[in-house]
Amino acid sequence: MPTCKKCGTSNLFLLLTNDGLCRPCEITRQISLNSEFQISKVFHVFLPNNYIFYVAVDDENKQFALCTQLMSKPLRINFYNYADLIEFEVSESEPVKSMCNAMMVNVYLNSLDRPHISFYILNSPVQFGSKAYYKAVRMAKQIYAVLRYLQHNAKLLQEQNRMNTLQAGADVFSLPTDQPQEPEADAKEPEKPATKKAPARKHAAKKSTSKKPAAKRTPAANKPAAQSKPDASSNEEEVADKKEAANAESSPKSNMAKNMLKQLSDKISNIAKRKTGKEEASETANKG
Ligand SMILES: [Zn+2]
Repeated sequence: MPTCKKCGTSNLFLLLTNDGLCRPCEITRQISLNSEFQISKVFHVFLPNNYIFYVAVDDENKQFALCTQLMSKPLRINFYNYADLIEFEVSESEPVKSMCNAMMVNVYLNSLDRPHISFYILNSPVQFGSKAYYKAVRMAKQIYAVLRYLQHNAKLLQEQNRMNTLQAGADVFSLPTDQPQEPEADAKEPEKPATKKAPARKHAAKKSTSKKPAAKRTPAANKPAAQSKPDASSNEEEVADKKEAANAESSPKSNMAKNMLKQLSDKISNIAKRKTGKEEASETANKG
């Protein structure tokens, strides 16, 4: 009895190559000759009329090899990318007297060489609910699952590529806005505390910006923002003091900043004083 040298399949009508390989094993051998194709998994079913449907998947390079043909004919193997699988369908003929006459698969591919592949899973009448019918249904489900797998991974790949290009675009876009902020912070603060203090400052900045839209554009709305500056800079002052203790000459910039901030905070406290003075004056006026 003819027996395949590789997989050990054995049956009376088995077609073997001169090397003693059955059809699926011969297809696998021929695909493995393609050095750009790494076989991750193979799948095949034997169809009516001595046809074979064979798929090899290359998960690493996102491609697949397809062979659907008469087993007795010279092999014709086509290679596609996952995304080349356009559409596929399993169709059944109209039932006639509780019989199914035909079940077939159509596969549409992005290939001018072979854009449409169709084959029968069932091509002779069988009773609904019979063993033969369920065997055909099982085969159809398996074929459908494999094609669905390819389609799903093509979609994932497409999504991934889209995210990558979006990410690349975001990186390019954020470069000019991020750069002027960060070196400034690094220059003022000593190296080690910078990592701890920087996030805190960012949070403070975020809070103040998130508050802004809520507050109406009145002169009062400007004050919280102005006050938040001395808040943030009090950290800076502490850091600057420490730094000065370490090396006294190194911070003419931070001295300038300190002076400016002092002036600012003086102004703010003056404004506050004036305001409270006015309120007191008005209260006394009301009383009087
Ligand atoms: Zn074999």
